[in-house]
Amino acid sequence: MHEISLVQGLVQQLKELAAANQATKIISVTMEIGPLCGVVVDSFRFGFDIISSEEELIRGAELKVNIPTVRYTCSACGNVLVTAGERPDSCPSCQEQAIFPEGGDDLILLQVEME
Ligand SMILES: [Zn+2]
Repeated sequence: MHEISLVQGLVQQLKELAAANQATKIISVTMEIGPLCGVVVDSFRFGFDIISSEEELIRGAELKVNIPTVRYTCSACGNVLVTAGERPDSCPSCQEQAIFPEGGDDLILLQVEME
């Protein structure tokens, strides 16, 4: 489960941010998790729960997750689909399977609330 190592990287980033801001407690963390970045949100949350309970700095912090929408353009008819869920199998207008996503593969730390 590679989400654990991603959470560990996030925690490292949070420690550095807290140190730079002289904060002693992280209250909430907002992540953007693109539906195409290969991260399972539930696993990420699970990892965050485990690791945050072991770290004084982030214990009890709330993890907020934003799932951005992704635009897919059909290579055959140019139809544009927008979805925040799974990749569509094919274009709904012409059934073409070659549809190309734009964005949606980012894992970004959007916002941190600390004190
Ligand atoms: Zn199409």
